[in-house]
Amino acid sequence: MATKTLTNDDFAKMDISQLQEQLGTSAEGLSHDEAAKRLTQYGTNTIQHGKRQSQLLSFLKNFTSMMAILLWVSGFIAMFAGMVELGIAIWAVNLINGCFSFWQEHAAQKATDSLRKMLPTFVQVTRDGKDMQINADDLVPGDVFAIQAGNAIPADARLTEVSSMQVDESALTGESVPTSKRSTYNHGEGQFAEKNIVYAGTVVTSGTATAIALSTGMQTEFGKIASLTQNEKQTASPLQQELNRLTRQLSLIAIMIGVVFFVLAIFFVHYPVAKSFIFALGMIVAFIPEGLLPTVTLSLAQGTQRMAKKHALLKQLNSVETLGETTVICSDKTGTLTQNQMTINNVWLPTRTYAVTGTGYVNNGHIQFGSKDFDATQDADLSRLLQIALLNNDTQVQAPATSQDTPKILGTPTEAALDILTAKAGLDKATVAKEMPRLAELPFDSDRKRMTTIHPTADGGRVIYTKGALDGMLSISDQILDGGNVRAMTEADRNEINHANEMYAAQGLRALAFAYREVGADSSTLPQDNKAISIDAAERHMIFVGLTIMADPPRPEIYDAVKKCHRANIRIIMVTGDSALTAKSVAVKIGLTSDKVRVITGDELNQMSDDQLREAVKGEVIFARVAPEHKFRIVSTCQANGDIVASTGDGVNDAPALKKADIGIAMGVTGTDVAKDAADMILTDDNFASIVAAIEEGRTVYSNLQKFLLYILNSNVPEAAPSVIFLFTRGLVPLPLTVMQILTVDLGTDMLPALGLGAEQSEPGIMDQPPRPRTAHLLNKSIIWKAFGLYGLVASVISTVAYFFVNKMNGWPGIALASNGDIYREATTMTLAAIVFCQIAAAINCRTQISSVFSIGIFSNHRIWWGIAFEVLLLACLIYIPFLQGLFNTAPLGVSEWIFLVVIPIPLFLLEELRKYLVRQHHAKQ
Ligand code: ATP
Repeated sequence: MATKTLTNDDFAKMDISQLQEQLGTSAEGLSHDEAAKRLTQYGTNTIQHGKRQSQLLSFLKNFTSMMAILLWVSGFIAMFAGMVELGIAIWAVNLINGCFSFWQEHAAQKATDSLRKMLPTFVQVTRDGKDMQINADDLVPGDVFAIQAGNAIPADARLTEVSSMQVDESALTGESVPTSKRSTYNHGEGQFAEKNIVYAGTVVTSGTATAIALSTGMQTEFGKIASLTQNEKQTASPLQQELNRLTRQLSLIAIMIGVVFFVLAIFFVHYPVAKSFIFALGMIVAFIPEGLLPTVTLSLAQGTQRMAKKHALLKQLNSVETLGETTVICSDKTGTLTQNQMTINNVWLPTRTYAVTGTGYVNNGHIQFGSKDFDATQDADLSRLLQIALLNNDTQVQAPATSQDTPKILGTPTEAALDILTAKAGLDKATVAKEMPRLAELPFDSDRKRMTTIHPTADGGRVIYTKGALDGMLSISDQILDGGNVRAMTEADRNEINHANEMYAAQGLRALAFAYREVGADSSTLPQDNKAISIDAAERHMIFVGLTIMADPPRPEIYDAVKKCHRANIRIIMVTGDSALTAKSVAVKIGLTSDKVRVITGDELNQMSDDQLREAVKGEVIFARVAPEHKFRIVSTCQANGDIVASTGDGVNDAPALKKADIGIAMGVTGTDVAKDAADMILTDDNFASIVAAIEEGRTVYSNLQKFLLYILNSNVPEAAPSVIFLFTRGLVPLPLTVMQILTVDLGTDMLPALGLGAEQSEPGIMDQPPRPRTAHLLNKSIIWKAFGLYGLVASVISTVAYFFVNKMNGWPGIALASNGDIYREATTMTLAAIVFCQIAAAINCRTQISSVFSIGIFSNHRIWWGIAFEVLLLACLIYIPFLQGLFNTAPLGVSEWIFLVVIPIPLFLLEELRKYLVRQHHAKQ
């Protein structure tokens, strides 16, 4: 195979046999062995984007933030002022903090990358004469593959058979109007203008085609461009922006406080300048929120990983916060609320109904059944319906590889159900399809909700077979098949058909209608050129045959998921292509709405003004028989009402609504590549319950960040209090906590329990609260009050008492408070230890906002307890290792001091449990 010197343009000009010869392939596709060989030769079909930011650069970034620079300078000044040890300590802390941040960002990046790998794209290829699905990464040049509306084109390829295909090539050419494709070449077509070549990275917006891959991966035109482009810059999420702002503001406040304390120390306490500076430095270090940003990024990334386990893949970390704010979910019905497991229960023909029973199975590529359920040969009308069902059908049911596997469906469940039905009637698909090959097709689209195929008849004419949604089918039918005869359709016929449909729809069943029209060999009503047949020319004056009635049961998890949404004040609006009656019946059955619900159809929606729609979406409402374009309007209207909207979608035409929604949710199993590309989140199981699980996780992540923030702010007040006491007693009370000791709390003992809080499970009742308003701030009044007012103050009192306790044990007030020597060191050590023990209580208390910690299990979060163990161990090291004693100005504590310390968390814990209890009581009363 010598493809290297040939361009796409050369391939475009070849005829098919020349092309096959050139690429060493045939209509049967490549053999498995050849495909494997080519995969090694050409590599996987993947695109590597431009270089990532170098590891070194992203490592260094952690040492050049405003906060880091502040600490570098502080360390330098400390050294300059003769406090070499302190300077080194500050630098060491800055270094550890930077490494820790880098590790957290790296872990977050790894988590996001692994999510990307969970999103494979599949291609339907022909190899060794058999159709099969393979991972798009394994496609090789020479592979014969099928594409249809919604597919991302996996490789540069030459089209060999085309049916009304349009391709959006904007990713490559910038042209947003879709290009029509065909299998032939016209002279004068240049690079990117060849109508019979499709390019990797573009998407099929309508139609179907068969193609032969010319080049894959980095050899494609898209690959060549991608290798030149740099990695797109990830924009910071609103939450990260808020945190950036918060970090900057807190750092500025810290500096201001530092300056004020510096001036006061010099002029009010008459402290020497160098000492005043160190003193002020302590205040700055106490208030700077080190480690805040990377911890938030890591906990968002961990949140997305937990969501992935619950079948919801998020493409961007940003979406975690939006999920928690969701107020409305616009959801499809089929496959999302229901199982998309179509079973045909009845075939309805005018005046008679056939019940369909029995189970089918697939054996050796054929569907087989224990018994034939009904004999189609006895009823000409039924035979006709079954023939339409079999031939107007793109789905294949493949034999399972082993007896334990289930049959594989290449196509849609609706059409697979039709395949099963025809097999139950004893029809062999391969034989019938050979007798009546497909001459042309007008593929299904969710706007007209029909599909048509055209086949030859024995007398040299053609027959048009159409299936689709009943209302549309009735509007294109003016005759009816009745006992083998065709007659004009009367009003009574229409009423009878509609009545039957209503009866089934009221039970939540779906009706699919079938019709046909025969065209003589010399008829002028249909163009002779099959490729030139339009929808309008084919789908008219049809002869109505009958209905198949399918059941699609609700998903078992849906009942609980819907209840959860209602409790969480999240409204669900069903937006479906199915009929109004079926939609309503399913909605009422699963508890989504009451039977008073307003059902608006696509036609009614077209008549409604924007104001009328705005009012309608505020109440209980369902949209039925809508086209995907309507979904965009519904989503926008809800947003105009101030709602935060999550919307599901699977088709090509759903993409605008998915992009418009605050959270676009694509179906991972049945969704098209286009929908997945437009979405923010992909459901790997297509299940509505997974959306609710993701929303719950989104709320949890946000509330964990608040817990984390509360915890780290909690220690700021007791860290600052000693300096305030020192200042306002004009140095009468010697500084109860040194700068080095403040550093150990902020960057040592506090770190691990804080991380543990980021991984806390959902708090009971998190889905019993209304969604968080968009305007809410992460650092809200309640956190400020708790951190600075309540617990900060209590911890300040406790640590100050601890300081005086040591002095008291050593003779104070009989003697003056020690300002140096062993007693002073023991007293400051005790202040430090008391703050650490207050933080132990805080770590446990912060685990819940209003629930009792007992209700989530006191030991259920291991990370917190490991964090606490580390905290105590580190404290012990600081107190008992002689080298560290020197560095941090600490001294060993006695037994009574340890008893004092160990008791501290108990009243703090009980006090917080009491507060939570009172809040719960208050909520219950409301
Ligand atoms: P939802 O919008 O909730 O996913 P849906 O599956 O009914 O529900 P569409 O896929 O847009 O929505 O289909 C709309 C209607 O088109 C169906 O109710 C059915 O009557 C008809 N239909 C579905 N699939 C086909 C098909 N392959 N050929 C012909 N008609 C079809």
